[in-house]
Amino acid sequence: MDVLVINADLGPLHRVSLRHAVRMLVRQVAEVHEAAPDRLIGVYPVPTVIRLVRYVVTKWRYSGGPAWSRRGVHLRDGGRCAYCLGPANTIDHVLPRSRGGRNTWANTVAACGPCNQRKGDRTPAEAGMPLRWHPVMPSWAAVMIRRTRAAP
Ligand SMILES: [Zn+2]
Repeated sequence: MDVLVINADLGPLHRVSLRHAVRMLVRQVAEVHEAAPDRLIGVYPVPTVIRLVRYVVTKWRYSGGPAWSRRGVHLRDGGRCAYCLGPANTIDHVLPRSRGGRNTWANTVAACGPCNQRKGDRTPAEAGMPLRWHPVMPSWAAVMIRRTRAAP
């Protein structure tokens, strides 16, 4: 299970393993922002989003990190459709390309053909099709190692 790390200003940064997230909480560099109340580690709810205590300048996000690719988006999203969680075989632009949306990690998600077609030239809000996760730049590991984890 991955944990989303967000900056002190609530901007999403990247995902880390649960083990890594717990280490950050223990070192007090991050605090729990959202947790799954029905799942516990000992007496604590399992964190799903942790927030950095101090703001981290994220200029590196634009100069570093893996380059965007369709394959990378599918790997990052575990081959699942970001709208219905079914098997994905297309790339959907959150803000459609016809309206200026670009090929970036934050603007693209894996999607199945029917959801992609249904959404059309609309945003998720306009289409009434909420995204199941925040698309963010993946770690190098996420796009280089094929994840074998089954969809929930
Ligand atoms: Zn779908």
